[in-house]
Amino acid sequence: MEIRPFEKKVWLSSPTMHGEELKYITEAYETNWMSTVGANINEVERITCEKVGCKYAVALSAGTAALHMAVKLAGVRRGDKVFCSDMTFDATVNPVVYEGGVPVFIDTERDTWNMDPVALEKAFEIYPEVKVVVIAHLYGVPGKVDEIGEICDRYGAVIVEDAAESLGATYKGAQTGTFGKYNCISFNGNKIITGSSGGMLLTDDKDAADKVRKWSTQARENAPWYQHEELGYNYRMSNVIAGVVRGQYGHLEEHIAQKKAIYMRYKEGFKGLPVMMNPYDEENSEPNFWLSCLLIDTEAMCRQVRGEREALYISEPGKSCPTEILEKLAEYNAEGRPIWKPMHMQPIYRMNGFVTREGNGRARTNAYIAGESLDVGMDIFERGLCLPSDNKMTVGEQDVVMEIVRRCFE
Ligand SMILES: *Cc1c(COP(=O)(O)O)cnc(C)c1O
Repeated sequence: MEIRPFEKKVWLSSPTMHGEELKYITEAYETNWMSTVGANINEVERITCEKVGCKYAVALSAGTAALHMAVKLAGVRRGDKVFCSDMTFDATVNPVVYEGGVPVFIDTERDTWNMDPVALEKAFEIYPEVKVVVIAHLYGVPGKVDEIGEICDRYGAVIVEDAAESLGATYKGAQTGTFGKYNCISFNGNKIITGSSGGMLLTDDKDAADKVRKWSTQARENAPWYQHEELGYNYRMSNVIAGVVRGQYGHLEEHIAQKKAIYMRYKEGFKGLPVMMNPYDEENSEPNFWLSCLLIDTEAMCRQVRGEREALYISEPGKSCPTEILEKLAEYNAEGRPIWKPMHMQPIYRMNGFVTREGNGRARTNAYIAGESLDVGMDIFERGLCLPSDNKMTVGEQDVVMEIVRRCFE
């Protein structure tokens, strides 16, 4: 097979517009609801409740804003330790710090690449006082919510669920975004559906939803003038952005089906290579397949060394590494990405606690040494990568992407 660089870049995950978005944006314009109030906002909140199966949804400017509100609702105060998913985007944990909380990271399990309930149990033995647990569903794959829920119930802890990457994914038939007390979704530009930006706080608690409506609009009291008794935020979603989200919602299932087809083609196409796809619980869950990822077998890893800013590798016949594959993809004008670097390996969080199945742990080194036992998050980061997963990628383009990867192992 002869392969040439793509003329049009193949993206990791880019927005896919359908036309209805423009109609609702135009409606906002023509009715002059160019504000954080309007029909699009009301409608996307209604649609979200219906789709996800929650009682209340509050449209906000970003998923990060929704997480901030969730952390506030959960009652995190200065100095409180909060258990957080470790292998996630930093927006999952930063809001804990906005409130003065101290994230303690929980290592990852190998079945879904999410928070390990065994490590979480260990963490509660070490820090029984913790009252809030923030969980994410990495790349749209639901985590072990039953096990985590049971542990949190036992320790009287509240779950904040970050479903930013997993809108539309289900676990035992229920949508992600319904497992925590306070939950969040995102409409960032690279998510499964997008508003160009935006997010939502989801909950079944009316009081909580009302508080977020108030806090996110500068916490105005009911008075003839600007009256303030609490700290406010300017976090409400724009009615224009809501128009984009409204137009996208009808295409959520279609996007998921396209992403799933991409994942399945990769899975089939990589048979025979020393790699596996990011795993999920096939019996109990249906991911939204937002990003397709690859994990290279330990024996098939060539030497790769990562500093804080750069990576080097030594090419070897029959072996490869994420750095080599990502470089080759870039050469051919396709966008991949390293696995989200675990939070416990991030310089900003280097002093925070980190709990593995074995108890307390820290990252020892950034150099990958084959066979060395690493914590799970670090191991997946070393051997894994996100593949081009754009729903507009054609079968032909995907074949070329797979051929590029195959050649790395020659
Ligand atoms: C995208 C993302 C967020 C943040 O959402 P924004 O809308 O970009 O603020 C939070 N958590 C995870 C896991 C994400 O992927």
